[in-house]
Amino acid sequence: MNKLPVRVRFAPSPTGPLHAGGVRTALYNYLFARQQGGQMLLRIEDTDQNRYVPGAEAYILEALQWLGIEIDEGPEQGGLHAPYRQSERKPMYREYAERLVREGKAYYAFDTTEELDAMRKRMEEAKVAAVQYNAITRQEMTNSLTLSAAETKARLENGDAYVIRMKIMPKEDIRFNDLIRGWVVVHSSQIDDKVLLKSDGMPTYHLANIVDDHLMGITHVIRGEEWLPSAPLHVLLYRYLGWESTMPQFAHLPLLLKPDGNGKLSKRDADLGGFPIFPLEWTDPVTGDKAKGFREEGYSADATANFLALLGWNAGTEQEIFSMEELIKSFSFDRVHKAGARFDIQKANWFNQQYLKQRTDISIAKELAPLFVAHGIDVRDEQVLEIVHLLKDRVHFVKEIVVESLFLFSAPEFYDQEVVVKKWNEEAVSAISGFRDALAGYEGNFVAEDIKHLLSSTMESLGVKMGKIMQALRLAITGAAAGPDLMVIMQILGKTESVQRLDNALNRLPAQIRLA
Ligand code: GLU
Repeated sequence: MNKLPVRVRFAPSPTGPLHAGGVRTALYNYLFARQQGGQMLLRIEDTDQNRYVPGAEAYILEALQWLGIEIDEGPEQGGLHAPYRQSERKPMYREYAERLVREGKAYYAFDTTEELDAMRKRMEEAKVAAVQYNAITRQEMTNSLTLSAAETKARLENGDAYVIRMKIMPKEDIRFNDLIRGWVVVHSSQIDDKVLLKSDGMPTYHLANIVDDHLMGITHVIRGEEWLPSAPLHVLLYRYLGWESTMPQFAHLPLLLKPDGNGKLSKRDADLGGFPIFPLEWTDPVTGDKAKGFREEGYSADATANFLALLGWNAGTEQEIFSMEELIKSFSFDRVHKAGARFDIQKANWFNQQYLKQRTDISIAKELAPLFVAHGIDVRDEQVLEIVHLLKDRVHFVKEIVVESLFLFSAPEFYDQEVVVKKWNEEAVSAISGFRDALAGYEGNFVAEDIKHLLSSTMESLGVKMGKIMQALRLAITGAAAGPDLMVIMQILGKTESVQRLDNALNRLPAQIRLA
């Protein structure tokens, strides 16, 4: 067992916005680091210059910050192992690649693209299943294993382009115990002679990743399942570099699946379904295409983190709502499952609703007020608070409150026909006109409780049961069959508007003749 202080890293490549899977990886790293009293590093893996996207690194930092994932060492924070951007560490990697060449564990390969293509073609014609640069094929290629030492030296001095490839030894067993998947055993014959250093002098992902994890003292590599096939090669690299005794433990996290559970979640699913899979909105710097973000769609950071944490992990209890502190306490690799996790956006909405319910009316009102302004709706502060109180339990998002409250700002134009037919009868009409008069003459406090009182005493004096006219009353005030507390609605509308709406309905709606 590894007794070193826990150090984990989140190592994204800045090739675009961070998707939900990447954020979840960062989150699990963070939870584990905090739980173990360890350190969380951010390392930017930008050695593939062709895939570099401007703005991606800033996006990653902003997304992590939004979700409350704190970084102890990284490009912004600095640290003992700076720099934390691989492109800035370029000279370091060559040293290790050259060392492997000297020790006979790697070699220079001078093959041109044409030579590599020709090799591939020969193999395909010979019906070789997996075309690879490996222990067999390397023997017919142009590399320091087939060229003489003098020839190799001459080529290097001449400045010929070359890569450094790892020399995979045949007949080696590679095994490691993944914290989630258990024992993984692979035979070295299945691995090809991977390029470690590219012709532009940049390391490949594999070399840079291993060198940095070693130098940065990483104890646990927690990353997505898509990296599982690379892990045996990484184990070999640790072995060849003589670092096997301090090799980190691996934990490969399950894939995120489409909402229907069939196949890997993609941006296309998000576009088709109209839901976000990115933490923040992203505008592609080249095409200008926009991708939706959880933040901009109105999900709160705590609800988003809670939703992501449960994509692939559970506490083994019924509990679903977890604060970050609780997640830190409860997280364990034992309870991360191997099978893919379905990205169920309805569940995300549910989480958002739960977190919304927990908030104070005041904090919601503060967020809501500007949304009314943006919709050109003029509303007083105390009214906003009343509206929050009326609707907060009925929505998943703060912004939904605006839509749900529109009926308060314009009197009904249409009335639910089903309710008209069933409930707008002569008895209801006379009871409602009686209430209309009582309301018009009412001089007391216009608050829900008192309005209710007024209604029940009026009905009592008219000898009408409340239950018989409530739906008709709601119809007259809102036009709809159902909705939130009617007395609170009238309170928000105020006396004049309430009376006006009753007058409208009494004037417009013909009483239905009761047939039975
Ligand atoms: N740069 C890799 C990525 O973009 C990191 C994989 C790893 O964590 O080893 O996901």
